[in-house]
Amino acid sequence: MSTLGEQLLHRIRDAHKRRTLTWWERIYLPAIAQGLWITSMHFWRNLFLHIAHRLGLFRDQPASVTIQYPDQRRITSPRLRTRHRLTKREDGTPRCVACMMCETVCPARCIYIVAGEHPDPNVEKVPKSFDIDLGKCVYCGYCVEACPEDAIRMDTQRHDIAAYSRDGMWLDIKELLNPGTRQFNEPPEKFVQLTPSEFRQLPQTPPPPPPGTGR
Ligand code: SF4
Ligand code: SF4
Repeated sequence: MSTLGEQLLHRIRDAHKRRTLTWWERIYLPAIAQGLWITSMHFWRNLFLHIAHRLGLFRDQPASVTIQYPDQRRITSPRLRTRHRLTKREDGTPRCVACMMCETVCPARCIYIVAGEHPDPNVEKVPKSFDIDLGKCVYCGYCVEACPEDAIRMDTQRHDIAAYSRDGMWLDIKELLNPGTRQFNEPPEKFVQLTPSEFRQLPQTPPPPPPGTGR
């Protein structure tokens, strides 16, 4: 019986054995012709389908698989953690009760919350400010898991955090409540503090669509 070392040696030798190419394979011309054939087929098929789509034909047949980013966004799996958002109550105030669980559990220490009193006696606290530094975030999702109020989610389907500065990767509470309202390269309002009545006056954007419905 061969030892484990000999078995490994045989496997390594087998892996390095290269099949001898035939004369037909060594001239490479058939492989080149095959590659040109496949590329051309895709080109003509896509060209035909794009023209047909313009004419309203064959709409159910997808053309090229290229996603025209950023005009088109690929709908990603609902399991993918994308940019954070804070969920809201019906009156536009955050569901967050400033319990600090997410800030405590965050391994990157990139959540910053300032708690304040809520005018509704049934709600103990509300965040006056809530900031996340995406430049430090590791997208672990612990903040979402730890939240007892379903107040923070990572389901915006937004994964673009490109910015010209580290400040561009900062999410202030306005952006967290209404993802996508801040324009690219617009500076964040770091640690901006809002009252519940100011929360209600913020422009309200709808929550992100469920995955698979487009954006
Ligand atoms: S995803 Fe992880 S690193 Fe990012 S804010 Fe949440 S807990 Fe912190
Ligand atoms: S864990 Fe939830 S409720 Fe608590 S501070 Fe974070 S977002 Fe708010």
